[in-house]
Amino acid sequence: MKVLITAYESAPFYKRGGLGDVIESLPKALPKVGVDVKSVIPYYNEIKKKYHFEKEGEFSFEFNGKTENVGVYASVYPDTKVSIYFLQSDNYLSLSKTKDKDKRMCQFAFFNLAIVNFIGYLSEHHKWTADIIHCNDWHTALIPLVLEQKKLAIPTLLTIHNLLYQGVGSLKVLDLLNIKNEEARELKRGVPANEMNVLGEGIVHATCVSTVSPSYAKEIANSYDKNPISQFLKKREEKHSKTDGKIEGILNGIGYDIWNPAKDETIFHKFDVDTWEVGKKNNKEDLLRVLGLQDKPTFCFIGRMAAQKGLDILINAVNQCSNLDVNLIILGSGDTRIQKAVSIIDKKCPWVKAEFGYNEELAHKIYAGSDFIIIPSRYEPCGLIQMIAMKYGTIPVASRTGGLKDSILDGKDGILFKKGKSLKLRKAIKRALNIQKDKDRYSRMVHRAMKKDFSWDKSAVLYKKLYRRMLNDK
Ligand code: ADP
Repeated sequence: MKVLITAYESAPFYKRGGLGDVIESLPKALPKVGVDVKSVIPYYNEIKKKYHFEKEGEFSFEFNGKTENVGVYASVYPDTKVSIYFLQSDNYLSLSKTKDKDKRMCQFAFFNLAIVNFIGYLSEHHKWTADIIHCNDWHTALIPLVLEQKKLAIPTLLTIHNLLYQGVGSLKVLDLLNIKNEEARELKRGVPANEMNVLGEGIVHATCVSTVSPSYAKEIANSYDKNPISQFLKKREEKHSKTDGKIEGILNGIGYDIWNPAKDETIFHKFDVDTWEVGKKNNKEDLLRVLGLQDKPTFCFIGRMAAQKGLDILINAVNQCSNLDVNLIILGSGDTRIQKAVSIIDKKCPWVKAEFGYNEELAHKIYAGSDFIIIPSRYEPCGLIQMIAMKYGTIPVASRTGGLKDSILDGKDGILFKKGKSLKLRKAIKRALNIQKDKDRYSRMVHRAMKKDFSWDKSAVLYKKLYRRMLNDK
């Protein structure tokens, strides 16, 4: 079974969030269960500058009335034989970020068409013909439609990592892709009617749709009416039989070759489940020294500064419990308004230390040196930070939602609180501190957390089953 996985990012080459982690770990895990996999992402300038891969070939196609050339660069994931390809186009694929909404739509429309042409390139040059295309999030969600329009009957799986990001923009994208309006009536369903919803189209046209935890799959199904994507979900159910129209939920895992305190070269002191007490104590000491904090119970937050992540709930809780004898380390970047609000508590409270930016090395050190990680997300499709933190013996204090609910056992290996409520978070912080004072209970909790298996092996088997079903149904 040959599967081509495609996305906007893939660690370690280019990562901005959990999607990047997944598009490294999943392609590495699938060959172990007998799936032949290759992945492909754009060749952004950032990747080019860092890696200087050799060009192995090129192909071309018509886009926006012009012939466009796409360069193919190849590599493998570190310590594996699993291929990853990078598609290069100075006109469309070099910039990883652009604020202009229509430019971004155009960039990913180009990438989607490039992928469909790349399928032919792989067959021709590598004698490797994909049985399934695995698309991820809106950036690759037009592939099912493009394949349909070109009458290429390759099954597609669309995995939704975050329903919030849908790729809404001008219908002009259709002209760029040479898709005639009457052939793609679906595309006019967006509101307002002159815009299209790329993720919505993926939901309607993909052979199968999945998301990254069973609870998030249920949450999506139960919040049809509140969701701008609901019309597409309904359309999907009408189009497919009841079971195939359903969104599957497969929990993500983490790559223990990357996230393992016993082997992690970036942390101050390595440790494992037998040496966690001294290991974490030493890591904490060095982390607090570097950040200029005193020795106290230490909570952290790591993540994108987006409304979803609930930093305002954490800020409220901090403002309400300024008498707590703890440290709070915040690492993140994103929305400038949220950053400003975080700077205010950073200035006001000497026990709060905020670091703005994307800093992989510091993230590892914070996971290793903190006692607790606070995850106040309003919703969380899966969330990887709780899984990573648990491997590093850092107990999650998290909202009871989505993948957090599916991966944390309240009172056993973490603490859950009612989402969206800073009062409940405050209580959860106090509960965490009480548990820490009870040495035996805390030690049992850390043991359970560190031993919990979030490896990709289980999820890889579930993806394989789903791929197989897609091929059998063909
Ligand atoms: P999301 O995908 O919604 O951003 P996840 O919890 O699934 O959230 O994954 C976040 C990933 O990004 C984790 O690997 C986390 O360590 C990493 N990360 C997030 N923000 C930062 C940051 N500012 N610096 C370094 N790593 C970060």
